[in-house]
Amino acid sequence: MKAKSTMASDLKIHMFPCLWDNYGFLIHNSNTGETACIDTPEVDKIIMALEEKNWKLTHIWNTHHHPDHAGGNLELKNLFGVKIIGSEDDKARIPGLDIGVRDGDVFDFGGHDIHVIDTPGHTIGHIIYHIPSAKTAFVGDTIFALGCGRLFEGTAAQMFNSLNVIAAMPDDTALYCAHEYTLSNGKFALTVEPDNQALVDYMIEAKAKRDKNIPTVPTTVLAEKMANPFVRAKTAEQLGDIRTQKDSF
Ligand code: ZN
Ligand code: FE
Repeated sequence: MKAKSTMASDLKIHMFPCLWDNYGFLIHNSNTGETACIDTPEVDKIIMALEEKNWKLTHIWNTHHHPDHAGGNLELKNLFGVKIIGSEDDKARIPGLDIGVRDGDVFDFGGHDIHVIDTPGHTIGHIIYHIPSAKTAFVGDTIFALGCGRLFEGTAAQMFNSLNVIAAMPDDTALYCAHEYTLSNGKFALTVEPDNQALVDYMIEAKAKRDKNIPTVPTTVLAEKMANPFVRAKTAEQLGDIRTQKDSF
């Protein structure tokens, strides 16, 4: 798979495949030269990406503590002396955490406000990073294209609220999900809403992309509102039912 770069004003995002189906993300500010890595799925791939872009890593923003998200923290911190940002509530589980953040916190990244939002469900301490000025959010394992994270720690009610918070962002917000799960998610989604034309169209496009090894990430808030059965669930109970079905699909 080819790595992909996208532009958002003076912010540049570079994404690249890691491990089996994870994505790694770098975000670079061309004014300040700062570069953050969103989660640390695979150190070698992250270093290769930094070298390819000629960017110097200054920060890590963790979404949650799972090894395919925080497993490379300490190695990268030792190599680059970076500052690690993550959930204050998950201090004990995020290796090398320097700056604990909480829901509603806003921090600066080269003149851009980065909004921290709690999205419990997949884990209790899961957070996402929303950059309204770049119409971008790094959503970790909370929402996937046509899916959502498994409920390892949180409840269906928590995930329902978390997905609603994401759905309330502007429609054209780019959602950078941490895994390429779209085709298998979509196969399941079609069993929930076989007659949803937006979903049918979404899957045609996703298949065409995957045939050419093109990522289906990022998706958008609007696309997920139209086609993602978890986002479209009307109640927490309904979401819980769909999640249970998906887990045994
Ligand atoms: Zn995870
Ligand atoms: Fe993950």
